[in-house]
Amino acid sequence: MPLLQIAEPGQSAAPHQHRLAAGIDLGTTNSLIASVRGGVAETLADAQGRHLLPSVVRFSATAAPLVGQAARDAAAADPLNTIASAKRLIGRGLTDVHRLGGQLPYCFVDTDAAVPRIRTAGGDLTPVQVSAEVLKTLARRGEETLGGPLTGVVITVPAYFDDAQRQATKDAATLAGLKVLRLLSEPTAAAVAYGLDGKEGVHAVYDLGGGTFDISILRLTRGVFEVLAAGGDSALGGDDLDRAVAHWVLEQAGIGADSGADAGIDPGTLRRLMQVACAAKERLSREPSATLEVDLPNGGRWTGTLDRATFNTLIDALIARTLTACRRALRDARVGIADIDAVVLVGGSTRVPRVRERVAELFGREPLADIDPDRVVAIGAAIQADLLAGNRPGDDLLLLDVIPLSLGIETMGALVEPLIPRNTTIPAARYQEFTTFKDGQTAIAIHVLQGERDLVADCRSLARFELRGIPPMVAGAARIRVTFEIDADGLLRVGATEQTSGVSARVEVKPSYGMSDAEIESMLRASMEHAGDDLVARRLHEQRVDAQRVREALRSALARDGELLLSDAERARVDAALARLEATETSTEVTVIAEAIAALERACAFYVERRMNQTIHAAMAGRRVADFVPAQETH
Ligand code: ADP
Ligand code: MG
Repeated sequence: MPLLQIAEPGQSAAPHQHRLAAGIDLGTTNSLIASVRGGVAETLADAQGRHLLPSVVRFSATAAPLVGQAARDAAAADPLNTIASAKRLIGRGLTDVHRLGGQLPYCFVDTDAAVPRIRTAGGDLTPVQVSAEVLKTLARRGEETLGGPLTGVVITVPAYFDDAQRQATKDAATLAGLKVLRLLSEPTAAAVAYGLDGKEGVHAVYDLGGGTFDISILRLTRGVFEVLAAGGDSALGGDDLDRAVAHWVLEQAGIGADSGADAGIDPGTLRRLMQVACAAKERLSREPSATLEVDLPNGGRWTGTLDRATFNTLIDALIARTLTACRRALRDARVGIADIDAVVLVGGSTRVPRVRERVAELFGREPLADIDPDRVVAIGAAIQADLLAGNRPGDDLLLLDVIPLSLGIETMGALVEPLIPRNTTIPAARYQEFTTFKDGQTAIAIHVLQGERDLVADCRSLARFELRGIPPMVAGAARIRVTFEIDADGLLRVGATEQTSGVSARVEVKPSYGMSDAEIESMLRASMEHAGDDLVARRLHEQRVDAQRVREALRSALARDGELLLSDAERARVDAALARLEATETSTEVTVIAEAIAALERACAFYVERRMNQTIHAAMAGRRVADFVPAQETH
């Protein structure tokens, strides 16, 4: 909090120093920077008056990287050194990259490092480094326009971005020399631009960009935006509309779309065809028809006119896919169409009149579209940046975000114990106490997980670390406090402290990069679908852990005084019951394991009783009770 200066009598208060802050929409296709000037949030243009900066960087051995339109224009001539869509790779692991590999025409360096590198004439570069170039260009534009260094920026990220992707985005900003005031989710930024942060209710944000479609259902209550559902399609966007037009052209020109479009055409011709198709598509948003002139792969030239009605039939199936995702998101959010208070259009592709029509039809209302859909996210980010920089004293409505997936740790039996549930408002801090499983255990492994499912195998592993140096104690005596702290950007720090000895360990979660938005979405969906199965699985795992604990306690008791208290015959009976329990532990029937535990307890009742008597005798003889932990106490 900035401190208020105390005014001397007769002096006026010091004038409020306006801090230069900006909002940045770091997009897959295009990026923008915006700032609040004279009380109005607006995007900033480059020297040529262009607001959108294509998120494309061309690297060369001799010159500084080229960013933006010039790089995009060079993509056809120099595909390997011209990197577009770095956002698809940022914060991702090599496995994701291999999966996306087919779609991305770059040369990836073969390495066993967690972060993929792209080989270019300018060196081997990570997606973070590529994004940093885009950010640097925008920051320079901002400083030139605003006339001074930026105190801080708010950068937007998709709602589904996980810890790794958020951290990588922050790393890119740091590399670009920017101070990140906050990462903000794109749909939240769009809602802020429309002033929806002042209106309680449920809002749908429909974002159709260049290569991705995102639908988010947000709920605003008392200044907190909650993401009720985030869905979409990471491989559906304006590029697909271009492709639909290109196929139509080839068909009209008598070149079978199937034989031509993706197969026999040389890349240069195909790329030019796509450019013409894209220009026609954009013209059709303003005009009823568009004329196209293209060079054909067979050397000829084709000219024709595409009218809006025909264009609509070409793209209807693609729009229908976005609407299906909207319905699914509404179902996931458990809200009906009638519960939606406002629909916000985001992304350049929502300029297509047919898209607007169909979205309006689905939601039964006109969507909000007054703010330029490809600038709305940057504008919302700028408003938030202005607020965070302290330029609006008195306006303390701070927008809060929530975490999209639950965070927890692994407990015995490969189960996940959630510490911070999904949709918790951030920043947040929680702790929970855990204990040791075995007598004399001096180290525990802490495995941090993200996801909604009960079993470790179904969640995403974020980090592992060990707490060592726990003083040897009997099982269950150590008190290990595990703390989770998430900052305002959704980044996680995990600590573990043994309370009696004070030994501690902590980890800043820079998770192993690598989960796609579709995976997050499907994890959420699976957690709903499998709620029943999970319950069964959880009970089974718990039962197995119980069985192991009983066996472990009995074994350690036997090691201590088995010889002293049991005859050979008695010992054989106990061992047999122990073996029977062990044999059932692979069973998938909860009741079978439970019965074996009960049987073992019956078989050992006499031994437990003897041990208790022994303990009492020992206590009376001045010995510490803790030296003799009755076996049943740990059951
Ligand atoms: P992203 O969020 O993926 O960075 P944008 O929101 O900038 O992308 O959207 C880019 C897409 O919007 C491109 O496919 C572009 O062709 C499309 N687009 C831009 N203007 C128009 C328009 N007037 N009509 C139709 N599509 C448009
Ligand atoms: Mg976008």
